[in-house]
Amino acid sequence: MNKTIIVSNRLPVDLKYIEDKLIAKSSTGGLATGMKSVHSEGNGIWVGWSGMAEEDMNENQKLEVDRALANEKCVQVPLTNADIDNYYYGFSNTALWPLFHYFQAYTEFELDHWKSYVEVNQKFADVVLQQVNDGDTVWVHDYQLLLLPQMLREKNPTLTIGFFLHIPYPSYELFRTCPWRDELLHGMLGADLVGFHTYGYARHFISSVSRVKGIEVNFNEISYDNRIIKVDSFPMGIDYDRYHNAALEHKKRPEESKSELMKSIDFHNKSNDGSKLILSIDRMDYTKGIPNRVKSFEYFLNKYPEYKGKVRLVMLAVPSRENVAQYQLLKRETDELVGRINGDLSTISWTPIWYFYRSLPFDELIDLYVASDVAMVTPVRDGMNLVAKEYIATRTNENGVLILSEMAGAAKEMHEALIVNPNNFDQIADSIKEALEMPAEEQKTRLEALQKRISRYDVERWAGEFLKSLKAAKDVVPVQVAQKLTPLKVSEIADHYKLATKKLFLLDYDGTLAGFKNNPSDAIPTQELYDLLDKINEDETTEIAIISGRDRKTLEGWFGHKNYTLVTDHGAWLRKVGAEWGMLDQMKSSWKENIRPVIESFTDSTPGSLIEEKEYSLAWHYRKVDADMAALRTMELKHVLKSLLINNALSVLDGNKVLEVKNSNVNKGRAATRLTNETEYDFIFAIGDDWTDEFMFEELPESAYTVKVGNVKTVASYFINYSTEVLDLLRDITKVQRQ
Ligand code: UDP
Repeated sequence: MNKTIIVSNRLPVDLKYIEDKLIAKSSTGGLATGMKSVHSEGNGIWVGWSGMAEEDMNENQKLEVDRALANEKCVQVPLTNADIDNYYYGFSNTALWPLFHYFQAYTEFELDHWKSYVEVNQKFADVVLQQVNDGDTVWVHDYQLLLLPQMLREKNPTLTIGFFLHIPYPSYELFRTCPWRDELLHGMLGADLVGFHTYGYARHFISSVSRVKGIEVNFNEISYDNRIIKVDSFPMGIDYDRYHNAALEHKKRPEESKSELMKSIDFHNKSNDGSKLILSIDRMDYTKGIPNRVKSFEYFLNKYPEYKGKVRLVMLAVPSRENVAQYQLLKRETDELVGRINGDLSTISWTPIWYFYRSLPFDELIDLYVASDVAMVTPVRDGMNLVAKEYIATRTNENGVLILSEMAGAAKEMHEALIVNPNNFDQIADSIKEALEMPAEEQKTRLEALQKRISRYDVERWAGEFLKSLKAAKDVVPVQVAQKLTPLKVSEIADHYKLATKKLFLLDYDGTLAGFKNNPSDAIPTQELYDLLDKINEDETTEIAIISGRDRKTLEGWFGHKNYTLVTDHGAWLRKVGAEWGMLDQMKSSWKENIRPVIESFTDSTPGSLIEEKEYSLAWHYRKVDADMAALRTMELKHVLKSLLINNALSVLDGNKVLEVKNSNVNKGRAATRLTNETEYDFIFAIGDDWTDEFMFEELPESAYTVKVGNVKTVASYFINYSTEVLDLLRDITKVQRQ
């Protein structure tokens, strides 16, 4: 039976010695809970780092760790201290983390960190590959492992691979600053499904893919490496019942079993009748907006001084990444800020901020959630934020107000919270006041709506939805049936060519015999191309036909002196070897007078685009246009053109970064048929890259070898990836030596 393997940087276990025996205790973090059923099902396993560096364990201890982990169905990826420094604290947390959270000034791109990131991702790949069987599913988590999906795919294409990013995905403008942007995207695109918390992050990812990689994206589907990759959003939830039930239990607890923290809160509540608690819980991280929150609380107390002595901010900051410089600075800044504000505003009986720098056990966390009248969750940037959801889950008395930053992914689903801009102190101060004064009925209504959604979309459902989509993504029937042209197939074609007595090559020009240039007039034939075609043409049983969308004048200029058949203007004109030019169909081109001004107006308003006039068509080139703008403008232009082309005499061709309007009854298919009807060939080979070449592939007899340049949807039988491979392919078939 196929299994599912979960991969994350850290394993969801804590290793502890109990009476000299190493025990792995499973942790209860959000991800571990969500994955519980996936992990426990069948022979599923979890691969990740154990938390102990290789150098810190002797051989016996390593075996002990392996054994303890195996009991929890976990397998470790051994990492050295240097790995942790460079891959984890280095590239992951001083490059990717700040960059993806829009802290560009904190972002450090170090080559050594990057190299280590590649190496460690490879270590993860090696361990996973030892564990998988063909057809298994692998779910890779988070920013530390962006390269892993592709590393797995390359070694085992039978795997179904899902990737989920737990942090924001930044806008292209930020992402492009990363020196290894290509490699990162290539890594992620090894997955069948790439998931994000919000639609906004998914959109940013798609935009990066289309701009950095220049590949076409169709809504949420990316065609890459002859595969379809789905991109979607799956907002992560929490283990709602666990928090909700813990809060219900909490209410029933006898006095003596209460935590010290809860006893002090109770004491405070009794001695300060009517005063309120505002809660703040986060890891000590610069993305969480802790200094801003403290300052906005001070701003609130000064704007509404009637609340001095009546409200208190209880702030829990959990130590995090303490050996990264920015985190040390943040800790110092927060300490100083809280100290100053408490020093400025405290009275004998009132301290405005209770500040705890530590992590709390689950029960005490619940105490804090339950005791607080308001929760302030105001990160400056946060992928999701689970604290906001946990606070809502623990409100079992129909009261409590959440103030939530619009910069948290959670804000996209928690509309009933008081949504604030974390940089707008005035707005935050007003929201604190609104929260403290909110009528009970309104609190209840807002809470009910929030609880309904969060209890329904809990973490298990999140995991289930992701895996369901992953399965569906993998089951998508590949749109492309063309096979990659292998060396074996090429030698078969070469054998056929050698034996044949009447042979025809139908060769598209732009994007096939020549690469694309920003300006079409720059794509002139190279000497290498002339030499090769001439050599092939020396064989009297071989006919070369250049079949192009270019106009007659251009092709005649380039190949007029050669003994080739020329087909121009997408099939409007034909010049057989040794014969005169003739038209395939009689056509008018007076329509151009009406269409040209329309295309010209689009050219004027779209920087980088240009119009090319051919004898029987008008082409609008947009190769140099910004990808997003091009997508918008081509859609608009197509729409406008289609409304103008009332009869079927004209059609719009959607080519490679070009839209072309031409007479409908002209196409390369008709031209190719004309050639193959007139002469009986026993070897036909056609190659092209464009949409217009599809007509040719379609019309040719089945015995013809049809080859598409580029791994996109096609009716051709074979494909190759790039135009740079074309000349070598022709050499391999005809056995013409490179000069
Ligand atoms: N948390 C914890 N111990 C603490 C304080 C918080 O385990 O002392 C948990 C909290 O319950 C929440 C998580 O840490 O589940 C924080 O998740 P969030 O998405 O809010 O932020 P992240 O730390 O992932 O950026």
